[in-house]
Amino acid sequence: MVTTSIDLDADGVQRGYVDVPVSLNDSAWSNQRLPLVCAKRGDGPTALLLGGSHGDEYEGPLALSRLIHGGVDLDRITGRVIVLPALNTPAVLAGTRLSPIDGGNMNRAFPGTAVGSATQRIAHFVSRDLIARADVVLDLHSGGRSLTFVPCTIVPVQATAAATDALLALADAFAAPLTVVLREPEVAAMIDAEVAAQGKRILATELGGSATASPETVAVALDGVLGVLDHLGIRRRPDGGGPAAGRRPSRRVPSQRVHVDGIGHYVYADEAGVVEPLVALGATVARGDVLGRLHRIDRVDEPPIPIAAGCDGLFFCRNGQGLVRRGDVVAVIGRPDGTVAP
Ligand SMILES: [Zn+2]
Repeated sequence: MVTTSIDLDADGVQRGYVDVPVSLNDSAWSNQRLPLVCAKRGDGPTALLLGGSHGDEYEGPLALSRLIHGGVDLDRITGRVIVLPALNTPAVLAGTRLSPIDGGNMNRAFPGTAVGSATQRIAHFVSRDLIARADVVLDLHSGGRSLTFVPCTIVPVQATAAATDALLALADAFAAPLTVVLREPEVAAMIDAEVAAQGKRILATELGGSATASPETVAVALDGVLGVLDHLGIRRRPDGGGPAAGRRPSRRVPSQRVHVDGIGHYVYADEAGVVEPLVALGATVARGDVLGRLHRIDRVDEPPIPIAAGCDGLFFCRNGQGLVRRGDVVAVIGRPDGTVAP
């Protein structure tokens, strides 16, 4: 059974672990420990902050580690902050997207089950004990090994415009350089579905990728988290007064918004090969523009294959490493806000 010694409903700052018993080939009675920090002070909203759902995405774990090591004065919050910097700790420690214990994809394991694999049991604990206490969930992802993004928040289109607007308000508070409004092709078993089923709000991010992090992307992550805490009234001013007045003016630039309406925004590799980039990520492109070339580097009789944009818009996501396989995403184009969907 997954447990924690932390009393999530007690006032004060508590640092500890979620304990996940796992029986392995080389460790019969092993206990996997997921770091957990809970800070609560009086009544107020609860923010659940998650990093490391996938183990090769680093902005979330780094920003949340910064947060719990002085990035915010946890003694002076209003309400509650629950922080898991490495939700899938085994995957984070292995540097892999999926769990090395059971091959589980944390963001395809919700709502989880108490009698399932390690990943399913972690998801069950998060659903039952953490999401149930939260008003807002921040799920910090990046592109991982296989993708790289212009740092963005992701807002899936909801059943009603009001519900979508409620998520856009969080994205505006996070203020990443880009907000992607997405018609999600797959939501079953993702954390979004469980958070929505419990009537809460979730904001996910894609803050970089290529299985690394940069000063800029970590700053976007940390500043975004603080922006959401300010928006919810959780963070206090250093002088102990009311909620923080807001972030540095330099970070109050409105996020650019684009839309991804369907499969036509994605470009896939139709062969394995090495991608030669020709257009920088973040560029505005037109349909048919050649964004790169796919080289079949082991052959002399096949010319490089052009990688062409399938629609007009902002080139905001590409392959995260040079070598791609058939079926990998090599480009995603976002339709600028205010333009009509094709
Ligand atoms: Zn991810």
